[in-house]
Amino acid sequence: MVERKGINSQTLLKRLRDALAEAGDGQERLDRITYLIACSLEAEVCSIYLRLDEATLELCATYGLKAEAVHQTRLRVGQGLVGRVADKAVPINHADAPSARGFRYMPETGEEVYSSFVGVPIQRLGEVLGVLVVQSKDARTYSDDEIYGLEVVAMVIAEMTELGAFTGPDKMAIAAQHRLPFFVKGLRGQEGVAEGVVLLHEPHIVIANPVADDPVVEAERMQEALEALVSEIDVLLDKGASIGEQRDVMVAYRLFAQDKGWRKRMFDSIDSGLAAEVAVEKEQTLTRTRMARVADAYLRERLHDLDDLSNRLLRILTGREDAEERGIPENAILVARNIGPGELLDYGDKLKAVVLEEGSVGSHAAVVARSLAIPLVIHASRITREALSHDPILVDGETGLVHLRPDDTVAAAFREKMAMQAEAQEAYKGLRDKPSTTKDGVNIALHMNGGLMVDLPSLEPSGAEGVGLYRTELQFLIRTRVPRRGELVKLYSRVMDAAGDKPVVFRTLDIGSDKALPYMKRPEEPNPALGWRAIRIGLDRPGVMRMQLQALIRAANGRPLIVMFPFIAQFEEFREARQKLLDELQSEAQRGHAIPSSVRIGAMLETPSLAFAPDQFFEMADFISIGGNDLKQFFFAADRENELVRARYDTLNVSFLTFIEQISDRCDRLLTPLSFCGEDAGRPIEALAFAAMGLRTLSMRPASIGPVKRLLRAVDLGEVRDVIDEARGSGEQSVRPALAAWLKARNYPV
Ligand code: PEP
Ligand code: MG
Repeated sequence: MVERKGINSQTLLKRLRDALAEAGDGQERLDRITYLIACSLEAEVCSIYLRLDEATLELCATYGLKAEAVHQTRLRVGQGLVGRVADKAVPINHADAPSARGFRYMPETGEEVYSSFVGVPIQRLGEVLGVLVVQSKDARTYSDDEIYGLEVVAMVIAEMTELGAFTGPDKMAIAAQHRLPFFVKGLRGQEGVAEGVVLLHEPHIVIANPVADDPVVEAERMQEALEALVSEIDVLLDKGASIGEQRDVMVAYRLFAQDKGWRKRMFDSIDSGLAAEVAVEKEQTLTRTRMARVADAYLRERLHDLDDLSNRLLRILTGREDAEERGIPENAILVARNIGPGELLDYGDKLKAVVLEEGSVGSHAAVVARSLAIPLVIHASRITREALSHDPILVDGETGLVHLRPDDTVAAAFREKMAMQAEAQEAYKGLRDKPSTTKDGVNIALHMNGGLMVDLPSLEPSGAEGVGLYRTELQFLIRTRVPRRGELVKLYSRVMDAAGDKPVVFRTLDIGSDKALPYMKRPEEPNPALGWRAIRIGLDRPGVMRMQLQALIRAANGRPLIVMFPFIAQFEEFREARQKLLDELQSEAQRGHAIPSSVRIGAMLETPSLAFAPDQFFEMADFISIGGNDLKQFFFAADRENELVRARYDTLNVSFLTFIEQISDRCDRLLTPLSFCGEDAGRPIEALAFAAMGLRTLSMRPASIGPVKRLLRAVDLGEVRDVIDEARGSGEQSVRPALAAWLKARNYPV
């Protein structure tokens, strides 16, 4: 074995940068890099393999192997030593490579004469873009320092790939990955199809100069950025602006930000010649590789925190702008790893669709997507890594399909589907003024859910009989402070004006759980969905609720008013909340304000306990609305935001359906009007089943009214009831298969 001096990465990186600054196309640049690395390591061979697609690597440049093998030799990820480096994303270092397990000899390259092999992944943010390989004739083991130096160089190659430094004369990237169409099947979050361009919630940072001009200056930049990071976190913590889970994350951030190991590794990278941003990304790459491997949910969360922290640090280093400053392109389709309802609302109504790598159908972000009436796909794996800003993208919320950079055939098929959907929408318009009455004469009132000003124009064209759920918290979520009473009065009266004679059910502020107002202090909670939320906050901190009730009364200004309190779990909560409204009515009258011509006060049934409340509750409530999203999560003890458990329990599960029936029977007996306003009411088969269980009012997003009405008008509810009863009697877990088969056999429009 021959001892050689280690790679001087600072010098090598500078040479690389200078070489790249010289004119030349992508291929010349790659060739030059391999030459410089081989010289620097005194090795006979240096090769760069880049990934063509998910499964294939191609030899794109070499110094030392046969030139005719370039762009000819291909191998699969996982195949041979090079393929293994790409697959496992770890270096392989062998003094006698031909005898190594998995070695694959590629005769066209002439590599048989080389004994030692070292390969390191070329990766960026956890994504392997290729492999950098160095080979020599002598049986030599490369030192840890040399491998570290190669990793640093590989990091720069990865950055330059992202910069498009290796595009050929035809402008096609030699590492073609980001140019090729990418397709992923996620899960349906919200139906609808859309065509547009990618808007990244967290855009990739393109680092113009991955090599530091002066490592000392670079280290100072890093030091300053780290200090800014810590004080940013401290400010957030001191202001108490972060609440609940967010606070936990902030506390974790602060710990991570002070982690000595993390800091040292980044300063070491700078020392070897990397720009500060690349040093951060090098750490991020490590984090993401680990993230992909750990199964433990808690650990993954912490790694996510660390990843987010790195993003923050990058934002400080690059002075990156947020979405608002960047500007939102026309036809923007938002691509994000995950997003909260408030962040989604920040984009307003400018988005055509949303694609999330994680996310959940039951989350409030999904509720917001529904209220914005845009398609949503969740669990679209790898999408944030594959998508680049402004990439063309097609989204099918119904099938969960997402096509990035689609080819012409896919785009044409897609446009056809969009045209068909537009046609269906036209057909629904024809139903607008028709009653939603079943064949056997049962009338089911269909109302719409809303909460944003953009919802109101839907009232007329959807044919909704009214607004069955107006989520007032959405207006609080889009602001940076508690809205003033005057603002709310204006807002609510505009809502009532727009609704005209149609009723609007205003639900009082339903915050907490995942609907966290960034400007409102809240205690840390181990389990926010089961925690201090909705009416519990309203009663314990009555100030905001009082202001909201006053605003509603003033907005009504002599017109009828309907108010609904969310998340009532026991009679007393309703009695107390109702009394607060009655008190406000009295004092508003004393202050000389016009009081509403009539007031109806209802409760949302979102916890199973309320179904078993005393008769007096049902008699006192002017109406009850089943909040099926929450009710279902508590009924099955399955978090509505956790896809692992949410989808396990069908809404048409016999137990849940029977529970809905019992609530309906009890309301009938006690003459309490009942409605259902959870998301399931807008799904035609579910809506049908609820109607068969006795529900006569359903409230849903406006776009669902057409499809639900069309099905209701086509069926005989008595027959549906028989099908459900038979399925219930047969011991099935869910009545869905039986009901779906029955509808299909009769060609009913589902
Ligand atoms: C529900 O829980 O079903 C509901 C309508 O309220 P939200 O989805 O806003 O919690
Ligand atoms: Mg709810």
